[in-house]
Amino acid sequence: MDMDAFFASVEQLTRPTVRSRPVLVGGLGPRGTVAGASYEAREYGAKSAMPMGEARRRCPVAVVLPPRFRVYQVVSRQVLGIVREVSDVVQQVSVDEAFLEPAELAGADVQRVEEFAGALRARVQREVGVVASIGAGPGKQLAKIASGLAKPDGMLVVPPDEQLELLWALPVRKMWGIGPVTESKLHRIGVNTIGELAAMHPQDVTSLLGQAVGGELHRLAQGVDDHPVAERAEAKQVSAETTFDHDIADRETLLAEVVGQAENAHRRLVSSGRAARTVTLKVRDSDFTTISRAETFSSATSELHTLSAAARRLLPIALPPGTPVRLVGVSYSGLATSEQESLFDHPSDPEDGPAPEPESAEPAEAPRPSSRQWRAGDDVQHAEHGHGWVQGSGHGRVTIRFETATTGRGVARTFAVDDPLLSAADPVASLGVEVDQPCGGGGR
Ligand SMILES: [Mg+2]
Repeated sequence: MDMDAFFASVEQLTRPTVRSRPVLVGGLGPRGTVAGASYEAREYGAKSAMPMGEARRRCPVAVVLPPRFRVYQVVSRQVLGIVREVSDVVQQVSVDEAFLEPAELAGADVQRVEEFAGALRARVQREVGVVASIGAGPGKQLAKIASGLAKPDGMLVVPPDEQLELLWALPVRKMWGIGPVTESKLHRIGVNTIGELAAMHPQDVTSLLGQAVGGELHRLAQGVDDHPVAERAEAKQVSAETTFDHDIADRETLLAEVVGQAENAHRRLVSSGRAARTVTLKVRDSDFTTISRAETFSSATSELHTLSAAARRLLPIALPPGTPVRLVGVSYSGLATSEQESLFDHPSDPEDGPAPEPESAEPAEAPRPSSRQWRAGDDVQHAEHGHGWVQGSGHGRVTIRFETATTGRGVARTFAVDDPLLSAADPVASLGVEVDQPCGGGGR
């Protein structure tokens, strides 16, 4: 099961005004990339992992929104909760993807599997409000390929006696474990489809690709797939690093590289559905000396700005200014599931918006500066109009669209940026319902 355009779909769910419109989710900065694109935006050629500037050139009418990973994680938990109710064996692969091996479908015919998948898709759509596509087949590789072919908003069940026909027509790159290097090795000897790989002599495959890998790929190409559906042992850290063509000594350039790697590692963190307590910065100077410095928070977080700011702080601690650097890496460890994160993060993080209770008692201590900068896409609460999001601001004014997942399309109103009735809000409130947070709401 794989959610369709997950991040953009959650934005369209919680902001009814952007439903059926092109939506791009991602960073707006010079290094920003697209984390999610709605199907409407994909029609213009915008897609995930593309630089945001390029995506906006291709789709100038797109609504561009900053990622709200906490909301995506809450919706992911809702979907996974349903999945675990209907299937005893589940392997969550990422925030929007899972394998299921329901005991009741052992030996089932195609019609029975279609009924099961159709019912699950309908339930996710009805109870959560997002679209899941489902692929099914004899083995994980085929199920994964089928879910891709089923998109958008579809399902595809591959019966055992049709699996080879489907598999063999596909390019080799579609197979698990075949990256660009293996693909080009196969292309060089004229092997382009999975069927052509399957037809090779086993010894030719292993001499080209190695004993272990070649043997495994050859079996997979023949439809032999006995990978179990099981929760995998989780990695202890996620990281990203880059080596420069020329040593860099300029501090601002280095800081930008640090932030870039912090973002890359953050994407991996979020897609694994986890949060981190420790940020480690690794730098290698021109003498190949590697220096690591770490910062540990009191609780795990998946907030990019918190993680990225820590990585930036570590640079001057690791190196004196002006040192030429050839490699920069950022890693996150002390990993917790995002469920564990929500046990701790909000009460203790002063940047995370107001506490659930009104803070009317201390007007002089109000944490918000009066000339607050409202960023497009931020969640806000207005004392009279309720929950909304920032559509735009400038010239001392801010325009708020008041709507949540449960209100239908809302009205837009404009206020002075320092309107005292306006405050930052918890993004999760945009779901419009009480969400089962593991620690039970305001009981702290
Ligand atoms: Mg997906």
